[in-house]
Amino acid sequence: MSTSRVYSRGSHSYLGNDSSKEVHRLSSEDTSASGCQINELLGAAHGVAFSPDTLAQAHTDGYDNCAKCIGGSSR
Ligand SMILES: [Zn+2]
Repeated sequence: MSTSRVYSRGSHSYLGNDSSKEVHRLSSEDTSASGCQINELLGAAHGVAFSPDTLAQAHTDGYDNCAKCIGGSSR
């Protein structure tokens, strides 16, 4: 695994939720109440960053696309 715990958005392009095993693209974050809920996942200490910070790496690490900000979920 190449994930690391994060507690803020920082300068990351992608952020994972290690509870739901979903990956979010921060540049297209859905900030609505039923959206990505990035603040909530960070606050609950479920935030992870990938190294390298790419969607391909997130998939390698077992994360699925968030339907709100990336789409194309394989589940
Ligand atoms: Zn999302």
